Amino acid sequence: MSKFWSPLTASLVPYVPGEQPKDKTYIKLNTNENPYPPSPKAIEAIRNAAGADLRLYPDPTCDELIRKAAAYYGLRPEQVFAGNGSDEILAFAFAAFFDPANKVQFPDITYSFYKVYAKLYGLQAELIPLDERFRIPIDRFRGTGGVVIPNPNAPTAELVPLAQIRELLENNKEQAVIIDEAYIDFGGESAVPLISEYPNLLVVQTLSKSRSLAGLRVGFAFGSEELIDGLNRIKNSFNSYTLDRLALAGAVASFEDEAYFKETTAKVIATRERVSEQVAALGFKLTESKANFVFISHPSIAAERIFRELRGKGVLVRYFNQPRIDGYLRVSIGTDEEMDAFIRALREIVEA
Ligand code: PMP
Repeated sequence: MSKFWSPLTASLVPYVPGEQPKDKTYIKLNTNENPYPPSPKAIEAIRNAAGADLRLYPDPTCDELIRKAAAYYGLRPEQVFAGNGSDEILAFAFAAFFDPANKVQFPDITYSFYKVYAKLYGLQAELIPLDERFRIPIDRFRGTGGVVIPNPNAPTAELVPLAQIRELLENNKEQAVIIDEAYIDFGGESAVPLISEYPNLLVVQTLSKSRSLAGLRVGFAFGSEELIDGLNRIKNSFNSYTLDRLALAGAVASFEDEAYFKETTAKVIATRERVSEQVAALGFKLTESKANFVFISHPSIAAERIFRELRGKGVLVRYFNQPRIDGYLRVSIGTDEEMDAFIRALREIVEA
């Protein structure tokens, strides 16, 4: 607390990101990064962009990147927004579309940044509890102040089928509906094709997960022209150059390497399926994951203890000291070698 802080700063409850340890090298399965490097084409493009042109401001409207992303989904550029990671886009979207007079709805167990944004903009939030199997009860989302659904959800990894997303949109036509598809490429079906039918639908995606570019900070939003205009109004009232030249170059190139994207995504999915079976064989319960992480719980060993013991063995996973999910761990899918080491460490803990 400082006397120089505004009442807003004093009131905030900021997000605490997953640990990026500096003390030693861990097998890092705690922040849902992709274990494979970005496409070599993206790395080369970033290298080529690291030159004299860095003295110049980047393209404030990200034209080339937006054209690429639009073409990828068969959209018009006016239906696409690019931002500095999907976190920034979500922050812009909360400001652009939600009114403090009404309650914005999101699941009670979900990406914890939503609560932070609601607080930042003085919004009221209505948290809708997940069902007993950690699924999002879509029919309970019928508010007046907007809806945010991550699909798949984090940290539970469960996917809402597209038919249910359509049902959600049918039930909520008068307010913005944000579908956060950070993990959609690991087995889900994107809601992007629905944006032409529902002018209130904003689909948010990222290059951080399935495209291995978390370090570049690039995200997208897809929606009607009126929603994209709203995001641009916020952006241009804040920082008109959201993406730097290196990020623009790398992001454009990542869309030019579909084969690499498909190959690495398929590897992550195959590893997830294998690890899910191995974890179940060690006695763990787990949700059905369509993401690049699994959400696991042991019936008799405390999650916090497993978390600590894994850390001692050099494996970092995510523990949530939070009601209802404090018996669970979220484990990102690494390479096969990393997951073999994780399973070995887990077996030692379970069998000790
Ligand atoms: N949404 C969800 C559900 C996430 O888990 C994350 C990653 N922590 C993000 C959005 C943000 O991703 P990024 O800002 O890297 O695009």
